[in-house]
Amino acid sequence: MADLVIIGASYAGTQLALAARANGFAGNITMIGEESHPPYQRPPLSKAFLRNEVDASSLPLQSPERFAEERITLRTGVTALRIEREARKVELSDGSEIGYGHLALTTGARCRTLTCEGSGLGNVHYLRNLADACAIRDAASRSRTAVVIGGGFIGLEVAAALRTLGVEVAVVEMQDRLLQRAVPPLISTFLMRAHAHEGVRFHLSSRVRRLLGHASVEAIELESGEVIAADMVVAGLGVVPNVELAQACGLVVDNGIVVDRYARTSDPQIVAAGDCAAYPNPWLNAVGQGVGQGVGTKRCVRVESIQSANDLARVAAATLADRAMPYEAVPWFWSDQYDYKLQMAGASAGHEQIVLRGDVESGKFTALYLRDGTLIGADTVNRPLDHLAARRLIAARVRPDPTALQDESIPLKSLAAA
Ligand code: FAD
Ligand code: NAP
Repeated sequence: MADLVIIGASYAGTQLALAARANGFAGNITMIGEESHPPYQRPPLSKAFLRNEVDASSLPLQSPERFAEERITLRTGVTALRIEREARKVELSDGSEIGYGHLALTTGARCRTLTCEGSGLGNVHYLRNLADACAIRDAASRSRTAVVIGGGFIGLEVAAALRTLGVEVAVVEMQDRLLQRAVPPLISTFLMRAHAHEGVRFHLSSRVRRLLGHASVEAIELESGEVIAADMVVAGLGVVPNVELAQACGLVVDNGIVVDRYARTSDPQIVAAGDCAAYPNPWLNAVGQGVGQGVGTKRCVRVESIQSANDLARVAAATLADRAMPYEAVPWFWSDQYDYKLQMAGASAGHEQIVLRGDVESGKFTALYLRDGTLIGADTVNRPLDHLAARRLIAARVRPDPTALQDESIPLKSLAAA
């Protein structure tokens, strides 16, 4: 069997390698990763790691023994520079080349950066990798005030972590509400209240004109002229998919490396998965919603989440093993802020009706979204069992009676059986 080369050593790459082995792939598997670390977990970087509650030793995705057992070769600190499709080889930054029978692109995404005046000042941070998180943690230990630019997942999780560390935080967001791409207004309002209760100040519908300071940032100036003091800035402005390698070798790219529902790119020898891939997602395409910063079209959507990276990687591995199975998984993801665990399943965009279980004020509730009588999505706060049940109900495309759905004496999971 031909060798498999995977470019990008993180969630999608690791899952693809393991799933290829589980599917009986017998050839060599090599993962090329430009970061110097073996694959590690990113979610704690904006949560427990930033709050100093865990250290880097708890982050690896898999042990070195597991990679060895599965005969997966990891080449870290090496960047793939060029793909030669005709010759089926990849040029690497250490001067070597590696040939492939099958190639997988799991190159992920990178942070969108500020372009305004003062963006190059010291103590202006972004958060994508372990080095970024270490730098933010270090800056927080020396800062009294922080401005977080962007009220998305990074912005809100970092704001919560910085507040826990005792830093004064102001959040600046261009939109008129938080997390507007991922959740409906009900959840935006709940989160804003939770943060305000912890002392976070918000500047919604606000744009940054420039950052002020000498060597390091000292303040930010909004388009309105308002100046906010800041010993440090963290910008969470969304991400840009790493598609340049794919583009340069002529693969079809459209806000991501375009793949079909079997994770195949426009070259049948090459699959792609994770944050870099745009694919037909049966749950999100109908409403044009991407999860996280995802941007949806009627045809393909790029979903930036661990569930999507893992599930599409499994689909890609099955394709390589000639056991093609289409992508079907219901999307879900989560965010931890203070003591609140927000869990999201399916799609909320395009809903016609919201059914609430529980009391929003209590900080423990479930919002269920219906379209044409069908359950299409659910957001839960501190209700993990409802989240799990909702995922099954959405997958089953149930058309529940809204009165039963709202009735807390009826467990959600029993509606699946009904
Ligand atoms: P990535 O994790 O981006 O990995 C791609 C890898 O490929 C990188 O290591 C990159 O350096 C490497 N690479 C790129 N180009 C090359 C090249 N040419 N040669 C070699 N290597 C290359 N999602 C959730 O669902 N829940 C969460 O709670 C959550 N929290 C998050 C917190 C933070 C701080 C961040 C940054 C993200 C979070 N996410 C969360 C999003 C989630 O981490 C991503 O969706 C996920 O990492 C995507 O995995 P991936 O393998 O596609 O890409
Ligand atoms: P995001 O969720 O897309 O949020 C970015 C937000 O910043 C958007 O609301 C955006 O508005 C706003 N924004 C952009 N430019 C701005 C500017 N100049 N001034 C003020 N606001 C601005 O992206 P993110 O928070 O940066 O997260 C990055 C990635 O990490 C995403 O893939 C995300 O899914 C992932 N992540 C996920 C989790 C989780 O799932 N729990 C946690 C952390 C990170 P527009 O929408 O108008 O552009």
